Amino acid sequence: MRSSFASTRHMTNVTRSAEVMARARDLFPGGVSSPVRAFRGVGGEPIVVARGEGARIWDVDGNEYIDFVLSWGPLILGHASPIVLDALDSAMQNGTSFGMPTELEVQLGELIRQRMPHLEMMRFVSSGTEATMSAIRLARAFTGRDAVLKFDGCYHGHADSFLVRAGSGVATLGLPDSPGVPAELAALTLTAPFNDLEATTRLVRDNKRGVAAIIVEPIVGNSGFIVPDRGFLEGLRALADSAGALLIFDEVMTGFRIAPGGAKERFGVTADLTTLGKVIGGGLPVAVYGGRRDIMERVAPSGPVYQAGTLSGNPLAMAAGVATLTALTPALHARIEKRTSALVEGLQKIGDDLSVPLTAGCAGSMWGFFFSSKPVRNFTDAKASDVKLFRRFFHAALDRGVYLAPSPFEACFMSAAHGDAEVESALDRLLGAMEAAVA
Ligand code: PLP
Repeated sequence: MRSSFASTRHMTNVTRSAEVMARARDLFPGGVSSPVRAFRGVGGEPIVVARGEGARIWDVDGNEYIDFVLSWGPLILGHASPIVLDALDSAMQNGTSFGMPTELEVQLGELIRQRMPHLEMMRFVSSGTEATMSAIRLARAFTGRDAVLKFDGCYHGHADSFLVRAGSGVATLGLPDSPGVPAELAALTLTAPFNDLEATTRLVRDNKRGVAAIIVEPIVGNSGFIVPDRGFLEGLRALADSAGALLIFDEVMTGFRIAPGGAKERFGVTADLTTLGKVIGGGLPVAVYGGRRDIMERVAPSGPVYQAGTLSGNPLAMAAGVATLTALTPALHARIEKRTSALVEGLQKIGDDLSVPLTAGCAGSMWGFFFSSKPVRNFTDAKASDVKLFRRFFHAALDRGVYLAPSPFEACFMSAAHGDAEVESALDRLLGAMEAAVA
């Protein structure tokens, strides 16, 4: 059965989930294939999912949940979208992998560049980690410098250079850095507080050997949901230019969520390199890094910077991406954005009506909240929010059939399949959850 934390709260039967997790724990560290799934940020045992459809998932015990995690962001058309399934079905008839050029990868590349013209050239990879790791290698090669600057609480995947003051699962588990990352390499990663342009400028200017790149999540989703102050991203652009560093927007999470054209469209700031993942694969493993042609031409085999992948540009993944981006018109984006706002406004009202210190926010189809009475501008603020209340609320929501990100340091998402009925039903359940969490 569930651990004592959850078993006292859970109203639904999760016997089969517990059985599967017991087997999983014997096979996998923590019983999972990726740490944050293990519920360490909220206590208790994960539910084991059996299937999804539209806005909903069902666990192996048959319990139904409205899902706001959506595989951590990719499923912008919802679970088992017929659009994606049909595309996969027809691509699959031709074979599952070739390790050769295909027209599908050209189609997906063109779709991305139509919406984000600043990705003049790009390279497909299979995970966000690969994309950011490769972008940093390229930035180092292009500038001839070694140091990179990231922000506290930003997560850019698990490559060695980024496991320094990372958010997401690293924050959830309370690991300061990861053992196994050579100190010499970690020393090349400078970190500044998000939204602190002064500290960032000092770090860049004081670095004698020069900074190769400033990498940032333009809206942070890995310390919870945190928006940039007005002028922060513009300031980073000017700083990078004056210091001869590249500016990298890690849009693995924000890409095709915060605006149809990403951070450039939303904030009017253009990065030199951009990383994308999640949505562009429609639920299959795809990511990409791209940007200025003069930089991307340094990638092998055009240039000397080596990076490769057996399954890169995999035809099934490309087909899912093409179907997803084709369906995701600006009109659909606007529709999802509207429902996201309605959900977040409803949640904020629940907090206000119950006098719970809550600050909720959204951008496009990405949203989040903190149990905090003041605005959260950086990771320090995020950690000062009421994490215990978050845990109670998370479990109370789960009990009522709403699946939120299982950590106070993660963002939530919406999909095209979340209609007005789902928003209304979710708010109804979240009201009950909030009442129970503060009781
Ligand atoms: N960058 C950002 C902003 C992310 O949110 C993530 C994952 O959540 C990554 C990079 C890493 O992507 P992946 O998990 O596909 O390796």
